Amino acid sequence: MRVLVIGSGGREHALVWKLRQSARVSQLFCAPGNAGVAACAECLPADIKSIDSLLALAKRVEPDLTIVGPELPLQLGVVDEFARHGYRIFGPTQAAAQLESSKSFAKEFMQRHHIPTAHYAICDTSEDVSDALPHFSMPVVVKADGLAAGKGVVICETKEAATAVAAEMLSGKMLGDAGARVVIEECLQGEEISFLAMSDGERVVALAAAQDHKRVGEGDTGANTGGMGAYSTEAIIDTQMQNWLLQHIARPVVAGMKAEGAEYKGVLYCGLMMTARGPMVLEFNCRFGDPETQPILMRLESDLIEALEASIEGRVSDGDFRWSSDAAVCVVMTSGGYPGTFEVGKKITGIEEGEKVPGVAIFHAGTTKHDDAYFTSGGRVLGITARAADLEAAVKSAYEAAGKISFGGAYYRKDIAARALKK
Ligand code: AMP
Repeated sequence: MRVLVIGSGGREHALVWKLRQSARVSQLFCAPGNAGVAACAECLPADIKSIDSLLALAKRVEPDLTIVGPELPLQLGVVDEFARHGYRIFGPTQAAAQLESSKSFAKEFMQRHHIPTAHYAICDTSEDVSDALPHFSMPVVVKADGLAAGKGVVICETKEAATAVAAEMLSGKMLGDAGARVVIEECLQGEEISFLAMSDGERVVALAAAQDHKRVGEGDTGANTGGMGAYSTEAIIDTQMQNWLLQHIARPVVAGMKAEGAEYKGVLYCGLMMTARGPMVLEFNCRFGDPETQPILMRLESDLIEALEASIEGRVSDGDFRWSSDAAVCVVMTSGGYPGTFEVGKKITGIEEGEKVPGVAIFHAGTTKHDDAYFTSGGRVLGITARAADLEAAVKSAYEAAGKISFGGAYYRKDIAARALKK
């Protein structure tokens, strides 16, 4: 089978790494990929912001199956367009992907279908914001409606700060069109977890859960990032909680989307806050998360291709995923300064030594290769991922491998999974 993966980050490297293990995959392509992906797939140039560019690529490659990593092509309708041209593709349509691409759509949808989430108000103008704020206690969360690559959520301590942030988003100065509408939301307290499910439009199964670390600094301080690390263990969600989340969140989402004429196929990623009032949805993502996919796929023992095909063909069942009881963790190494400004083009050393640590796989996020040497090319550079019998051993291996790798300005958090280990 010829398989095409769209995207260029650590998530796509992990997908390609897992797909390589399937006896059913004969040829693997990644568009555009990165220097690490190139070791296990043929990387092809493509503009992921252009559906025409992706379609032209499909016509050249003639894939039997396409898997979309990032959210942007899904929002732009890559699944609709590929399907129209007869290409089998995994993921939700443009209409279904609104669960991620529009926070106001997701909030109103959750209200219509009684899915637990924070109180909110949708605001199109500064007047709407002034009318809404008296109904919220501080701190309050201000969110851009559209896709903002992790930069569209600000927790504000005062009404003045919330007013100023909302005004800046609405003006278009902060996030362009993504901020043309904002959602004001009650600030929830609790432990955050990532609950992932897979659907074929009707049936839903749970995937392994994960916990990610979005803030740049140790102890969850500093700016929000795309993700500084994640871990996955059996202990994050027990069977009883998993059944509750399926019954009260994932199944109602899939049934609700079907009832509204926008069947949801693909991975449904539910970002949850485990509050004193019970689990509540912070956000939906309509694809695999990055970096959660890296530890999750390291725990997957069954063939990923089979599960993706089950979603496309409408035959998702509990047997699609077989998970190891091992734990896995991913520590993201970034360029110094990320998520603000940073320099690229720094020579990376020690990747091979890091890969020799037992149980470790190093997924590239922002790298290029010249004359047999790797160089940095992005904010998130590498995802040092390790699997072991327990979380403590996995964390130890990941940090041992990370310690062998260096490049100018390299930074990583030293406390990935530390809270879980303390428990
Ligand atoms: P989102 O993109 O909506 O998941 O938001 C990014 C991050 O902002 C989440 O992972 C949370 O840490 C935080 N966040 C979002 N919404 C809320 C909320 N209602 N209360 C507290 N924190 C939130």
